[in-house]
Amino acid sequence: MSTNHSSPRESHQHSTNEDSEAKLPLSSTSKDPNEKEISSDSKFQVSTEPEPRIQFRCEKCDIDELCDYKGQKPPFANGICFTEDCFVMRDPFAPPLFRARSKPEYFIVLGAHCTVCGIVVCKRTRCSVFYEKTFCKDCALANLKCFPSEVQARMRKQFS
Ligand SMILES: [Zn+2]
Ligand SMILES: [Zn+2]
Repeated sequence: MSTNHSSPRESHQHSTNEDSEAKLPLSSTSKDPNEKEISSDSKFQVSTEPEPRIQFRCEKCDIDELCDYKGQKPPFANGICFTEDCFVMRDPFAPPLFRARSKPEYFIVLGAHCTVCGIVVCKRTRCSVFYEKTFCKDCALANLKCFPSEVQARMRKQFS
């Protein structure tokens, strides 16, 4: 009896409700949930494209390498800040797990600019020396007297 008593407005509302309800399951079945997962997966893969790489070339030994970053704070080495601009390469052998934000990635510093003459030198012992800043071999030898005596001895040995 009470249903009969309710207004025709309500019954009309009910019919529209039924209409949309009937549409919903239809649309959800046309979109395969599995298909959706695959497409979002492939999207993710596209977004992890390798970034443009930076050319590094040592002016002493002519070693040629592509690196990922030049500067003091590599975005992939969390919290690490160099005292000078460095050419940094992601370690290609580091497991992808270490790309998690909490841990710095493994990386390799290829080289830097000589703090005196500005040329790009690699980190090989015959090309440069690091003492607070990077010095190319020539500038290190030319300014040998400016370094502490034990550093001078180390440099002489290194470049001999
Ligand atoms: Zn070199
Ligand atoms: Zn130099």
